[in-house]
Amino acid sequence: MKRGSVRLNALIEKLVEVVLRGAVGMKYDDSVLPTALRERIPDLISRIATQLREDSNGILRCKVCGRGPFTKRGFYLHAKRIHSDYVSELVREEIEGIVWEAKLGSDRERDVG
Ligand SMILES: [Zn+2]
Repeated sequence: MKRGSVRLNALIEKLVEVVLRGAVGMKYDDSVLPTALRERIPDLISRIATQLREDSNGILRCKVCGRGPFTKRGFYLHAKRIHSDYVSELVREEIEGIVWEAKLGSDRERDVG
């Protein structure tokens, strides 16, 4: 396996933890993430959260398999145990999007300069 993909996988693992916690409103530690990503985290969490959980009047249900209701912690544990592969894929897609955007952005800056 290439060195880059190992690093990406480690990053995705950290992001899954942060996103799952953030998705249910638990505290999360973004100091484990690269600085460049931190400001994108709230946005990333809310986009992934809408694909993962339904929240009607504070009652959490799993959008992926329909189970619930859950407490915050209950949902976090459920998603982590049952849907971590799915969440990893969502996170990977988001990260790839951000990386592409960053590349395009720096190309554009170079063209202008
Ligand atoms: Zn589920």
